[in-house]
Amino acid sequence: MIQKITRLISELKYEKDETERIVSEIKEGIAVFDEKGIIVRYNTSFQNLFGNSIQPGKHYWEIIRNNDLIDIMKNQDKNGNSTAEIEIDNKTFLCSISAMGKKNELVLIIYDLTEIKNIDRIKRDLVQNVSHELGTPLTAIKGYVETLLDEEKDDDRINYLNIIMQNTDRLNNITRDLLTLSNLERDARLEKKEVDLVATLNVVKPLFEEKMNKKGLRFSISTEGEGMTVIGDSFKLEQMLINLIDNAVKYTDRGEIKINLLNENGKVKIEIIDTGIGIPDQYKSQIFERFYVVDKSRSRSLGGTGLGLSIVKHIAKLHNATISVENNETERGTKFTVIFNDMNTI
Ligand code: ADP
Repeated sequence: MIQKITRLISELKYEKDETERIVSEIKEGIAVFDEKGIIVRYNTSFQNLFGNSIQPGKHYWEIIRNNDLIDIMKNQDKNGNSTAEIEIDNKTFLCSISAMGKKNELVLIIYDLTEIKNIDRIKRDLVQNVSHELGTPLTAIKGYVETLLDEEKDDDRINYLNIIMQNTDRLNNITRDLLTLSNLERDARLEKKEVDLVATLNVVKPLFEEKMNKKGLRFSISTEGEGMTVIGDSFKLEQMLINLIDNAVKYTDRGEIKINLLNENGKVKIEIIDTGIGIPDQYKSQIFERFYVVDKSRSRSLGGTGLGLSIVKHIAKLHNATISVENNETERGTKFTVIFNDMNTI
């Protein structure tokens, strides 16, 4: 019996040591605090992060010298999980806090995001620099092609020059949209103020009048309910509406484009409805991805870049608004809906 128990104890000890070894080798910092907030256990990575201040019996606020993280720990709901990004010594960490077991212990896991963030930044910088650098030669090419077109009499050559021009315009559009997207990702701040959406739509409308008249499209703006003002960045919201209306005009050859503004229980809703080619259901979830287009040749011939809706989605997200797409309810065509939450509505 004694032998059996001794073997069992040594097996348990081996398993405990093994688990501790694994936890201490994990790259993420891990620490456990009891219900009073006193540190109970931690691994080597956690020790590397908070070093000397870790001593048995110390509270988390004595160990973690980072006010953001202390606040998150303090406000942690005893039953739930919470995650947040914090900065420590110019490094970015993702912190996850969860309640564990009946003893109301808190487990803190700290994941170093610095490298991922750096790669992200390098990617964004590259896109931004390339888009920026391409601008100058493209403007030069466009200028020379225009000059050649003015002087050219030969039909074949005019045709070739027009193709060069179309492709230059396409490249210009792509670099413009890539720059917009990377600026949105780089600087997510909003210049917030009250934005009257009816006034914004009236500013945007003339930009499309020529194209709509050429196609004979009708255009209407209707409002339902009071208060079509939201808190947001007027420039970015204008950009969002331009992209959505531009698509509606591009993909509609006959019929109408209707904009409905509604205020439903304090939430402002914008509907952009067209009677165009529509979007087959299987593509609806993908069209907001970068460079995703349903029909490549159609999008190209209309000067599309496949980035317009990614920009729209990004702007909506920055405003805590949701965007969705469905079929036009009454006839062929598409309906995009942007809903602002009540915090952003006046
Ligand atoms: P693009 O520059 O090609 O228009 P977007 O990102 O703006 O790129 O849109 C992605 C794709 O979604 C488009 O290529 C098109 O296939 C589809 N799409 C967007 N808006 C509409 C619309 N109003 N009607 C039909 N198809 C649309």
